[in-house]
Amino acid sequence: MKIAVCVKQVPDSWVEKKMDGQVIDRLGVDAVLNDLDEYAIEEALRIVEANSPTGSAGSESGHEISLICMGPERATEALRKGLSMGADNAILISDPSLAGSDSLATSLVLAKVIASGNFDLVMCGTESTDARMSVIPAMLAERLGWAQLTHVHKLDIDVSKSYAQGVRSTEIGIENISADFPVVVSVPDKINVPRYPTFKGIMGSKKKPLIIKTLDEIGFAAETVGMLAPWTAVNDVIPRPPKSKGIKIVDTGNGGNELVAFLEEQRVI
Ligand SMILES: Cc1cc2nc3c(=O)[nH]c(=O)nc-3n(C[C@H](O)[C@H](O)[C@H](O)COP(=O)(O)OP(=O)(O)OC[C@H]3O[C@@H](n4cnc5c(N)ncnc54)[C@H](O)[C@@H]3O)c2cc1C
Repeated sequence: MKIAVCVKQVPDSWVEKKMDGQVIDRLGVDAVLNDLDEYAIEEALRIVEANSPTGSAGSESGHEISLICMGPERATEALRKGLSMGADNAILISDPSLAGSDSLATSLVLAKVIASGNFDLVMCGTESTDARMSVIPAMLAERLGWAQLTHVHKLDIDVSKSYAQGVRSTEIGIENISADFPVVVSVPDKINVPRYPTFKGIMGSKKKPLIIKTLDEIGFAAETVGMLAPWTAVNDVIPRPPKSKGIKIVDTGNGGNELVAFLEEQRVI
């Protein structure tokens, strides 16, 4: 089985994010592997371990986990972290023309690389912690013409039947969903607890294959993506207003009514 895990490098959640014109300033801040993508890597590792004769991931498992990322060259750091967790190899699509790509361009580029990789399963996080659109997995499935099991907090893979089954909680209930391979799956943070890379994993990750591909190498003309060919325009950016002070209700005999009035005003009740 070949699994692709889509991972993104994002500004560290702890740093204050600033806009650079109409886009987030991603280059002037510390960058990390998108937290939520660690759950997708962990789930891929667990699937391989459960279906490996040795019980572990890696070349002897008979399966392969490839990380796929579109981003600047320094995204290799995020990919090395994923490799140190246990993925086998990584592909970074990096090209100056890709700067400013919106979600439609991002999914187009990722889908092109996935389509040429003979994958059975694509795993994604549910969202990036910078742009937070939560759209790439569905867009990938659409572009590839594959089934999608998105936001599944429980996943069962039957390798012998090339079949995936997932559980998704929505506002109206719990859905049991399934699909035959090939399938795109996105997972939230409740699905597992990602492992920490071991020292051996960190050292071993330095020797694992990490290929950087340009747009030309994957067969795209520079003028079809990025700032030169945007599908989306950011019309306006307004800084988030500072948090207002809370209201303190002191009970001097009418506290209950005041609380109810407040909750009604906020449309909580
Ligand atoms: C005008 C404009 C310019 C933009 N310029 C940039 C820019 O220069 N750089 C930039 O990073 N973003 C840029 N963005 C944001 C960009 O559209 C999104 O970051 C990108 O399309 C992915 O969407 P998302 O981050 O909301 O992913 P989501 O849909 O929230 O991500 C879900 C999952 O998809 C996968 N995924 C998402 N992005 C990637 C990726 N790049 N590689 C591999 N897997 C991925 C991960 O598994 C992730 O957990 C721009 C947006 C607009 C509108």
